[in-house]
Amino acid sequence: MDRKQKQRLIPYALQQKLPELVLKNAGVVDVFSKRVRKADVAIQDGVIVGVGDCRGREERDLGGAFVAPGFIDSHVHIESSMVSPPLFAEKILAHGTTAVVADPHEIVNVAGGAGMEYMLSQTENAGVRFYFMLPSCVPISSIEHNGAVFGADRMRRFRGHPRVLGLGEVMDCPGVLRGDGGLLEKIGLMEGGVIDGHAPAVRGRELQAYRLAGVQTDHECTDYAQA
Ligand SMILES: [Zn+2]
Repeated sequence: MDRKQKQRLIPYALQQKLPELVLKNAGVVDVFSKRVRKADVAIQDGVIVGVGDCRGREERDLGGAFVAPGFIDSHVHIESSMVSPPLFAEKILAHGTTAVVADPHEIVNVAGGAGMEYMLSQTENAGVRFYFMLPSCVPISSIEHNGAVFGADRMRRFRGHPRVLGLGEVMDCPGVLRGDGGLLEKIGLMEGGVIDGHAPAVRGRELQAYRLAGVQTDHECTDYAQA
């Protein structure tokens, strides 16, 4: 929000001006205090300018319906849904998901950089915020014949894209532990962003070596203690 927008909205937050829309009698889901409280929600120019006892130019009675922040799906493979990104967006939005972080390793394994470009172009202004991790293991290992190779040289042009956040789940854990040069080059290229891992049941010294290589996360935890 820039300074001019803040200056325009402050009088609405103070209720010196009536906001364009107030959702009356909402069950506001407060994800910080983990409570649901009954309140009105005031909106101006698409921005929430007040929660509490509010008045507005248009008022809609929600009768206690929940108002919650949009869900963020932090790890998904859109292709597994078997639908195109715009239809995927339409379906998840209806269930309250407003942002996703996707690793398009299925399409990139087949189509390489063209697949990555397709996913970026198909998710612009999609109604849902789509962010991407660059697939790290295309192919997943030297014995795979999947159709495409997506090495650091081909990744480079996507680095710096405002919706590319880092490197997708580094599945070739044995490759990392061998010190595979190509894999470490990809991790190095995307350092500064998030480097996602994929290391089920990797523990102890192997986990320390995997972490030392630059991998930051793992979504494959097999029990609570490991997580
Ligand atoms: Zn995954």
